[in-house]
Amino acid sequence: MAAEILDGKKHADGMIEEVRARVAEITSRGKRAPALAVVLVGDDPASQVYVRNKVTACSRTGISSIEHRLNAGATQGEINTLVDSLNADDSVDGILVQLPLPRHVDAKSVLLRISPAKDVDGLHPYNQGLLLQGAKGLRPCTPSAVMHMLKAHGVPMKGARAVVIGRSEIVGKPMAFMLLEEHATVTIAHSRTQDLPGLCRQADILVAAIGRPGMVEGSWIKPGAVVVDVGINEVTDELLAAKIMANEPKKLETLKTKGRVLCGDVRFGEALHTAGSITPVPGGVGPLTIAGLMMNTLFAQTPSLTL
Ligand code: NAD
Repeated sequence: MAAEILDGKKHADGMIEEVRARVAEITSRGKRAPALAVVLVGDDPASQVYVRNKVTACSRTGISSIEHRLNAGATQGEINTLVDSLNADDSVDGILVQLPLPRHVDAKSVLLRISPAKDVDGLHPYNQGLLLQGAKGLRPCTPSAVMHMLKAHGVPMKGARAVVIGRSEIVGKPMAFMLLEEHATVTIAHSRTQDLPGLCRQADILVAAIGRPGMVEGSWIKPGAVVVDVGINEVTDELLAAKIMANEPKKLETLKTKGRVLCGDVRFGEALHTAGSITPVPGGVGPLTIAGLMMNTLFAQTPSLTL
């Protein structure tokens, strides 16, 4: 039987609607809407698309967004000054500095400078510490929203074996801690892990956050497993596509007509035959991430809210 598709877009729409209703309630009481400041340095095309999507999501929810664009040559001092002014501005609830920053900028020190109370990406060590302790706080948007969806789908996590491939600060590590918090038995796999296929075959919940197109083969998946594919990869190579998208004629067609196609870290066409449920790419984790950002911005304004 083919796996159930975990429709991230549909779930994200529900999250966005939940935020919109809360924002409407807040403003109806005469309070200002939550406000998100988005800082974009330089003109990286992918970053521009991400920022545009975040600003659009703000308008859907009623959250106000303020864009701050600095040119690619902006100095560390200029970026720091901007972050300091946003920290001090009472009309700003959340600050998002779009990554990557230009090479000459020390991104870690910029992220460290953001007030933990406004750190809607959940990357400040203070918020990471709260997550480690299992305490309430601002958490990275992608894993938070993935957990929101898994819970809504009633995915059993208590005692489940979870494998997270990837150990980044923004996805892999926080994802592992959130699964642990739900009492899963979690293994974090990474580029030096031995026998990755064997490890994956033990996973009731498999999360791939690698950034390598189609690396996870169908044969790596335990029958009935829940598979969350976080990777977003652009493929332009027809030979590679033929190998990893063998059972996905629509994607191969897209590549032919557009010269590029998006895919995840998991070979979706193969995984469909083994997994119990799986998130597609696109339309899976991507929309969830933005919905998670909206929830975080609302939470930054009103930390007492339970979402
Ligand atoms: P990253 O590059 O920071 O981390 C990748 C991780 O993969 C590393 O920890 C590394 O150890 C691991 N890895 C690399 N090669 C490996 C291998 N051969 N075997 C096992 N592990 C290996 O990336 P990231 O920021 O965590 O993002 C991962 C992917 O998720 C990317 O494709 C990114 O675009 C995507 N992403 C998607 C969303 C979304 O909203 N859907 C959000 C964030 C990231």
